[in-house]
Amino acid sequence: MTEILFRDDSYLKECEASVVAVDDEAIVLDRTIFYPMGGGQPGDSGKIEWDGSSVVVTDTRHGEGGTIRHLFEPGSTLPEIGTAVKASLDWDRRYLHMRMHTALHLLGSVLQYGVTGGNISAAKSRLDFDMEDTVDKEQVTADIRALVAADHPVSCRWITDAELDAQPELVRTMSVQPPRNAGKIRLLEIAGVDLQPCGGTHLKSTGEVGQVRVGKVEKKGRRNRRVSILLDQ
Ligand SMILES: [Zn+2]
Repeated sequence: MTEILFRDDSYLKECEASVVAVDDEAIVLDRTIFYPMGGGQPGDSGKIEWDGSSVVVTDTRHGEGGTIRHLFEPGSTLPEIGTAVKASLDWDRRYLHMRMHTALHLLGSVLQYGVTGGNISAAKSRLDFDMEDTVDKEQVTADIRALVAADHPVSCRWITDAELDAQPELVRTMSVQPPRNAGKIRLLEIAGVDLQPCGGTHLKSTGEVGQVRVGKVEKKGRRNRRVSILLDQ
């Protein structure tokens, strides 16, 4: 099982680690700051360095048994098991994912409809809403920008199924119902704005989202509106 460092601190750009497994496509470390693809958020890229050598990490995926797999190109120079390495992120790309991911939470709080899908990338991100109404792009942009300007703190906390059961009001305020079999649930809270289970990487406050606007709104069916957001650099 890989120790996951990004869950407690999404701002870590590098970490020391040791190699526990290597196969023909991925390296597994004992700990990592690399986010594995999931929840609509892409896997991180970056590099792993040791003793004057390095390998480019092209993508990151979940592996078996709670491991995280750092994927590399065929033909890469690879570290041996037990090697002490430094892992560092392509931080510019990851930080865009954090801005986009946090902005999608704001979009979801502005448009109070069921969310049926979503995708994050550094260039463009989207949520699919179960809605028939038309979307007023200018108004939604203005509402999101107001939440950014208010610089709401963003935080994560863990809660057990039992604690959740003891606080039914918590479930009522959540925008997404939590999974009920993991025993432990990670909640993302934007104080007064959004509360929902989420395993992704977020900013520490909404102000860091910066310049954001609604891009295309596509009608993907009678009851489906795909709303994209863009970040102006
Ligand atoms: Zn999230």
